[in-house]
Formats: sequence, structure tokens, C-alpha cells
Amino acid sequence: MIPDSILDRARALHESSLVTDLHADTFLAVRYKGSDIARRHARPIGWAPFMLHCDLPRWREGGVRAQGLGIVATKLMTRSPREHARATIALMHETFRKNAGEVELVRDPDELEAAAGRGKLAAFLGLEGAHMYEGDLETVRELHEKGVRYVTLAHFFSNDVVSSSSEKHASVKLTGFGRDVVRELNRLGALVDLAHVHEESFHAALDASESPAIVSHGGCRALRDHHRNLSDSQLHALAARGGVVGVIFFPWYLSRNPLVSLERIVDHMEHIARTVGARHVALGSDWDGFVWMPRGLPDAAALPRLTVELVRRGFSDDEIHGILGGNFLRAWRSAIAVSDAGKVSSRQGASRNTSSEESHRRGAESAEASPRT
Ligand SMILES: [Zn+2]
Repeated sequence: MIPDSILDRARALHESSLVTDLHADTFLAVRYKGSDIARRHARPIGWAPFMLHCDLPRWREGGVRAQGLGIVATKLMTRSPREHARATIALMHETFRKNAGEVELVRDPDELEAAAGRGKLAAFLGLEGAHMYEGDLETVRELHEKGVRYVTLAHFFSNDVVSSSSEKHASVKLTGFGRDVVRELNRLGALVDLAHVHEESFHAALDASESPAIVSHGGCRALRDHHRNLSDSQLHALAARGGVVGVIFFPWYLSRNPLVSLERIVDHMEHIARTVGARHVALGSDWDGFVWMPRGLPDAAALPRLTVELVRRGFSDDEIHGILGGNFLRAWRSAIAVSDAGKVSSRQGASRNTSSEESHRRGAESAEASPRT
């Protein structure tokens, strides 16, 4: 039995947080199965493709205020990834228009906060693989214009930007085009996402990036030695630049035991907190990404149970607010502060950007912040 005092504190923390999940593949099912995000789907049991873990009713029930939504186009799905990405984005825009009372596309942290303040789910878009640019920098700008705000440099396969973690040896670290992509994303204030990226490419891309990078969905190799997870040296490098790791909920990346429960997610969060500090932890469910969920956390509606476990483990209120969304927003604001737009407004002395720059400095110094013990 969990004491009422813990349940009450967890509920209050969850409700007062800008709960933000960095990555879900919900639009795979919207696109391929015609699923309707406005409809409440049954809780999935075990594994099955396109069994939805989330939809607008369950995001709401789970207290999710903002959701990163992936755009996926592997070479197994299409021979024209750029066209595929454009079509998926058009479908996303149409879906948001249809459900305008409930969900809003957001392009920066201020819009995210405003949408959440209006009681809507703030949706932000992530491109899962820079191969969708097809080697063209103009496409980086075009997809940014259409709302893409985080870019996973690789997906299941290596591409003309970086090597994927699925390769044993990195065929490339960061190509010349990759360097241009990172620079362009920095300039635009979009986040470089290093999930799925080979360790050697990870370090090369991090070195090339002026702003903090994120890992939108991943775990720790110290707890589960899998190529999709981060070594401690990767955690240190990411944290030193002010980045965050959205801890994935997929049992296979959390443990060798495929039937773990939600406590295992918090084990990975604790490892990151002990190694580099709780301010580098975020949520990265990978809902709807052809994965199954741990026991106790079958879908988005159950998310408050994760907050209960964070309270039970002794994380402070500030740490929990950060993990549930604040840490990611800080990283995103830092990326905007070093972008062209951020530099212009800071020259104009806008007060909002002064605070963004401060948070960027704090981000850069975060490696010195004392880790949790
Ligand atoms: Zn993924």
C-alpha cells in the first residue's frame, strides 16, 4: 500500500507540471490504419502493431500537456522519404485542424506553454531520421517551416548524415552534409536529437552542435547493454552541453527481462540522475512505436503512476517538475537562445531572452551541478 501522503504529493506534482513526453509514433497508426486520435482506444494487451497507447482522451486522462510526435519514413516503407515526410506532416496538420478544440501544433516553448494553458495538448513535431532531407539543405528549412522542431539524425539505418546505432562499426561519424544540417538546425533553433545515433556519431554531432542536443527516447547502457542506450561517457557529454535524455518506456531497452514493470523506467532515470544530475532526465515513452509497455504503465492514461514512483524514490519537487517537462523546455529554450532568432531578440534586449540566455549558461555549466546521491 502506498501511503496517502505520497499519492497526494504525486498528484499535486503531476497536475502542476507541464508534463511533456518527447516521443510517440502515433501517426504511424493514423497514417496506415486510419486511426482517429480523438477516439479513446482500449488499453493494449501485450504486443501488436498499431495498438494505440495514446489518443486525445488518454493523453488528457494521464495529465500529458505536450507530446512530441515522430515523422517516420524508413527505407522499408518508402523509396521517397522526403515525399513521405511531407505527406505525413500534411496529415498531422489536417488532424490538428480537425481537433482544434483539443490539440494545437506548437513551434516553441512559449507556444507550448500557451497551448497547455488553454487546456489543449501541445503537439510538436520530430523528424525520425535526417535521410528525409535527401541531402538537401533547403528541405531542412522547408520542414522546419512546416513545424519540425527536433530532428533525430539517424533512424534504423545509417544515412548521408551519421551512422545509426544499429551498425556495429560507424561507417561515418558526421558527414560534411551532416555538419551543414547540424549548423542549420542550430541556426533555426530546432533541437538535434541523438536517439538511434551510433556512439561515434553521437560525439561528433554533439561537438558540432552549438546548442544542447536531446536524446528523445533511449536508456542507459549501465543497466541494459543495448546499442540503443547511452554509455556513461555519452551521458556526461550530453549533460555538459545542457542536453536531456527522454527515458524510453520500452521494456526491451530497459532490461533483458521483457516483462519488467514501471519501476525499471525509474531505475534508468535514477542512474542518469546519479551520474549527471536529475536536470538531464525527461520522458521519452516511444508510445505507439511498435513496442509493448512495462507492467503498471500500459498507456498514456496511466502516466501519473510514474510520478508516484518518482516521489517514492525520493526525488525532490523541483527534480520531478524538471523530469516531467521542465528540463526539456530548458534545453529547447537554450537552443532558441543560440539560434538566429534568439540572437536577434537578445540584441534587442527582450527580457524573455535574457532569461533564456541565463538558462543556457546554466545548461552549459550543468556538468558541475552536484549529481543526486
Ligand atoms: Zn525510434
